[in-house]
Amino acid sequence: MRATEWPASPRPPVRLLLQWGVSALREAGIETARLDAEVLLADVLGCSRAQLFARFHDSVGRREAAAYRGLVVRRARGEPVAYILGRREFYGRAFYVDRRVLIPRPETELLVERALTLLEGRPRPLVADIGTGSGAIAVTLAAERPDLRVIATDVSAGALEVARLNAERHGVADRVDLRLGHLLEPLDEPVDLIGANLPYVGTEEAKRLPRDVVQYEPHEALFAGPEGLALIRELFASLQPAHLKPGGAVLLEVGYGHGREVVNLACQQWPQANVRLHKDLAGIERVVEINFLSPATGEV
Ligand code: SAM
Ligand code: GLN
Repeated sequence: MRATEWPASPRPPVRLLLQWGVSALREAGIETARLDAEVLLADVLGCSRAQLFARFHDSVGRREAAAYRGLVVRRARGEPVAYILGRREFYGRAFYVDRRVLIPRPETELLVERALTLLEGRPRPLVADIGTGSGAIAVTLAAERPDLRVIATDVSAGALEVARLNAERHGVADRVDLRLGHLLEPLDEPVDLIGANLPYVGTEEAKRLPRDVVQYEPHEALFAGPEGLALIRELFASLQPAHLKPGGAVLLEVGYGHGREVVNLACQQWPQANVRLHKDLAGIERVVEINFLSPATGEV
């Protein structure tokens, strides 16, 4: 049997289905072929990847085998696994995702961690998550801090529907206030913290993005002008004292190589603010933190 030939048996064992899936995905140039084949088969069989190996020699029913084949074909065409399964893990929770939203990235967990640290000791904080997408940041913060409320905004009505599903799924819908609108426009009361993972991919960088990202993820979630800084600049320009409570802060995820520039922009605009840059687990400057120590004196 050629590796990419579909197994002849009507009830092929797990082992042969995996072998077929891995080679079909390798042939399609998918770097994570083995992992993806395992994840897709485990999903169809309703088991974990580890359990798959305990069932290595068990045969699989015709209908399940056909379903698996369909999923592998979608992956081979480049569709991300998270869209195929309709979920992605973020900060230990499963989020529903589809093509209306960016797939949450592990590096964004850094922004969540910094937000939780900054909000320690602030009772009943109010947070704004600008460009909430799947709701990954907003829902996680609300789930981690039961006394926290969050205003989660997006320009995409479809994204807000996905965020609503996730807020309901994680039992925080009563504390996640979803609003449609551009940047800070939907905010009508001062918040303790503004967090945002805005689109930050520039025109040049777009050419270097993986094919799956460009083909499948929403462009309005990715691109922001020639250098990728258009929306961050606009957010800075529109930030008013009335947006933040005294001692409030802004946390922004930034693109590869953007850290210094965003820090400089913030320092120029608010010379009195305390601005910091945090690296992610890969050592990349990823989150810019701006602390307004005394906004009453007009630095914001
Ligand atoms: N917060 C999610 C996360 O971290 O996974 C999604 C981040 S995604 C990079 C950026 C989001 O910002 C998208 O959902 C997009 O629709 C939204 N967006 C784009 N332009 C916007 C704007 N002008 N105002 C508000 N949201 C915007
Ligand atoms: N991190 C995303 C990527 O890898 C970009 C997300 C964004 O623009 N905020 O392409």
